[in-house]
Amino acid sequence: MYFNQNNNFYHGIVFHHFHDDGIHTKGQGSIDKDDLYKMINFIGRNNILNADEFFEKFKNNKLKNNEVCLTFDDAIKCQIDIALPVLEELKIKSFFFAHTSMFQNKPDNLEIFRYFRINYFNSVDEFYNDFYKVLDKDLKSFFEKNSVVIKEKKIKFPFHTISDIKFRLVRDNFLTKSQYEEIMFLMFKEKQFNHYDFYKKLFFQKSDLQTLNNLGHLVGLHSHNHPTLLENLGYDEQKNEYERCLSFISDILNKPKNEIKSMSHPCGSYNEHTLQILKELGIELGFKSIMTIEPEKGMTKVNNSFLEIAREDHSNIYERMN
Ligand SMILES: [Zn+2]
Repeated sequence: MYFNQNNNFYHGIVFHHFHDDGIHTKGQGSIDKDDLYKMINFIGRNNILNADEFFEKFKNNKLKNNEVCLTFDDAIKCQIDIALPVLEELKIKSFFFAHTSMFQNKPDNLEIFRYFRINYFNSVDEFYNDFYKVLDKDLKSFFEKNSVVIKEKKIKFPFHTISDIKFRLVRDNFLTKSQYEEIMFLMFKEKQFNHYDFYKKLFFQKSDLQTLNNLGHLVGLHSHNHPTLLENLGYDEQKNEYERCLSFISDILNKPKNEIKSMSHPCGSYNEHTLQILKELGIELGFKSIMTIEPEKGMTKVNNSFLEIAREDHSNIYERMN
């Protein structure tokens, strides 16, 4: 039987990556089909609600403490190839949150970068070493300045190593997005990695969203371009991110916009503007990425508002199982 850390509130469980023996290689935080079965067992099949039922109960304030839903972020193909057959077999309908730039053949490069890192290096640390070599900057004082932040992040994201946290800080704070991508593309060249060849294998196609919708899973918003720090964007840019995402999903599913009512915050990033925008777009259920209270976002409790419902990361549950 699964207990969340405080065992006193409802929430979602967030999944990202799955691996198999084929194209979907094992990477940090990925699980396989058998792990998913075990995890569902561990959570307790009876505690898992279908997405529409979770939504209804949530709206009517009828959720019980032990009730959870399964959610899948980022519209990555391994979810369709590996997780969906398990969900269908066990008759669990879930939430799928998709960013939509991939349907213009401009997916978020993060996924491509992840694939590259896993498949073209022997270890994450080998990748980090190569990256810092190409970057060629003295980072000592940057890490010193951020020592408190690093400690805080380790508490918030216990499944990340200190090297992971440092790398993310360099990626998100030390570099601009385009500087970071420039380095990655240089590394692609060195390894003769042509990323366009992998789009179809790594990302949802429009038909995947339609399949999910036809099977009764709920497809929701996850921004258009999947910025790593959406909260740093101005009001108009944020609005554009969610409006475009909503239009794309509504078009692809051939469903009126007001029937798309759920979302998750990309990388857990949002601010009061975001919440305002989502309300105006008629979103009635929004998920965060973590279970902790973030006072800097004005949160006073877990599940602070209907747009800030906590989710446990599947890797934390996996750790508790083993
Ligand atoms: Zn995401």
